[in-house]
Amino acid sequence: MKVIYIEKAQWASGLEKAGDSFRLWGPVRRGQFYAFEELAGGQVPALDFRNTRLSAKGLVYPQSEKMFEYTLDPGQPDHDLLKEAQKDYSPRAVLGIRPCDADAFELVARNFDTPEYQDPYWLRAREAVTLVGLACAAPCSTCFCTSAGSGPFSTKGLDILLVDSGGNFLAQVATPKGEAFAQAAGWRQPADDAAAAEIDRQRQVAEARIDSHVATERLRQQDTLTLHAAPFWDDVAFACINCGTCTYLCPTCWCFDIQDETHGRQGVRLRNWDSCMFPLFTLHGSGHNPRGQKVQRVRQRFMHKLKYYVDKYENGIQCVGCGRCVRHCPVNIDIRKVCELMNSYTLAGDSCAVVS
Ligand code: SF4
Ligand code: SF4
Repeated sequence: MKVIYIEKAQWASGLEKAGDSFRLWGPVRRGQFYAFEELAGGQVPALDFRNTRLSAKGLVYPQSEKMFEYTLDPGQPDHDLLKEAQKDYSPRAVLGIRPCDADAFELVARNFDTPEYQDPYWLRAREAVTLVGLACAAPCSTCFCTSAGSGPFSTKGLDILLVDSGGNFLAQVATPKGEAFAQAAGWRQPADDAAAAEIDRQRQVAEARIDSHVATERLRQQDTLTLHAAPFWDDVAFACINCGTCTYLCPTCWCFDIQDETHGRQGVRLRNWDSCMFPLFTLHGSGHNPRGQKVQRVRQRFMHKLKYYVDKYENGIQCVGCGRCVRHCPVNIDIRKVCELMNSYTLAGDSCAVVS
């Protein structure tokens, strides 16, 4: 893979140049946390972060997205017609995204871009985005990306991977989109042969720092109904308050709800992120709710990520090991421990320690 050398002294001016062709997004410090925000001209992303609290998922798949709009006002052009909402799909680049979060876009593409159905909004937004990632030299204690098919230096889903090498960045250019961004930023200086060795050395150090390892190899062979009926779900769900934090923070959760809102003679159709942890998620029009109990919702979240997805897509688990749900769950429910329970479960016995 081609490697470019970027002097940090040239970093800001390169981004300014790229800003002529791309809208730029990057991590910005907000109180104790970092968030992806659009960068103003001359603003550089804050790269001294471990990871953002919310992933960059919302830059392609907004938390609330207008799909259609209409007006019944006879004085307006196109009244009484349902029109597709206008959106901005101009080129944009996300700077500093972590490799796990970039890999998450690959994972959710299996839902939004299938042979049977292509989600037009997700696809257009994904196509418009160039992902310029930042390798993780210091993973968090809750990270387990290497158990989830990703890694702190993985280029899956990325167009460029930046590796911090002291006074400069070594940029691995992974795709033609990455090449176009490097051109726009004026990053042209090829790195020498030592660069690849340096990247590999740093990768090994970073991977060795990940001490959270989660076994997943038996999930595929586990019987679905046996796992579904396993006795540990009551213990897993006991402390959960169904707040939905885990699903909203997760870069691989993709569920949404579609709602119509009317304001006088105007109306919009929106799709909003939804959460399988909410009681209304599966409420039928009849009033029946197949997941009316908390334990049913908690089981659904983990069965979807760690069993149904595994079986349907043969692409590992529906998780990239970013650790957000572990860090931010208010009652410390830990997907790593649930995964261990599911992976190791036999009818002969089980262990129910799921809170870290
Ligand atoms: S973050 Fe924790 S408490 Fe909140 S819904 Fe998820 S598992 Fe339950
Ligand atoms: S399930 Fe948890 S650890 Fe896995 S990708 Fe989602 S938030 Fe990250």
